[in-house]
Amino acid sequence: MRHLLTLLTSLCVTFSAFAWGQKGHDVVACIAEHNLSKSALKRITALLDGHSMVYVANWMDNASHTPEYEYTKTWHYVNVDPAEQTYANSQKEAKGDVVVAINNIISRIKSGELTEAEERVELMMLIHLVGDMHSPLHAGHKSDRGGNGTKVKYFGQQKKLHSLWDSDIVESVHRWSYSEWCEQLNILSPKAKRAIVQGTPNDWIEESVLLAADIYAASTTGENLSYDYVAHYTPIVEQQLLIGGLRLAAILEKLY
Ligand SMILES: [Zn+2]
Repeated sequence: MRHLLTLLTSLCVTFSAFAWGQKGHDVVACIAEHNLSKSALKRITALLDGHSMVYVANWMDNASHTPEYEYTKTWHYVNVDPAEQTYANSQKEAKGDVVVAINNIISRIKSGELTEAEERVELMMLIHLVGDMHSPLHAGHKSDRGGNGTKVKYFGQQKKLHSLWDSDIVESVHRWSYSEWCEQLNILSPKAKRAIVQGTPNDWIEESVLLAADIYAASTTGENLSYDYVAHYTPIVEQQLLIGGLRLAAILEKLY
């Protein structure tokens, strides 16, 4: 029993380092599906063996902990220390980061040289990683491992800043299912959506870097973060999930 508890605890610790919580990824994938053309969605669904994009959106967080996909462990985030200021200026992770991974996956799918099984895996990774890059603490500091080393008090409970931003704050903002989030956020005009999808992953990560800097400054250790904090960041949480979904759709629309 104690072994099981230790295992579960260590799994929780490890998982918290990797992603928007499951809800965030589901919302991003759902918004993307609702912004794809019928023909692109049909090709993608066929590649996923009839499953939806939501169904596979969290696969990579589990996969990165298996020996087969261990090489993808660093692909979920970037690290930018305060002195570096931007991702462009930052020292890059040798095993790849979320921006490099997304750009490489797009090239591999574009090449047309993948088998169907290989392309399915690349597609599942892409769906996950475009979500991750819009989770601000996935562009956090190296010194505290993207907020995993920074403890804050949130509604009286000790939390890692990273997991607060992956999961807790999403659940605090709205107690909605992923499909309710998707329906409530997907309301922009086509013109507003076109503006959001301009640019490249290298541009988009810089937005997350700036957001992370703002969040570090506002998340003082020792202070009890609660209603004011949630109210202040509600528009940011909504925005990041929405633009993650729209940009994922834009990438996939070009590929399929
Ligand atoms: Zn992840």
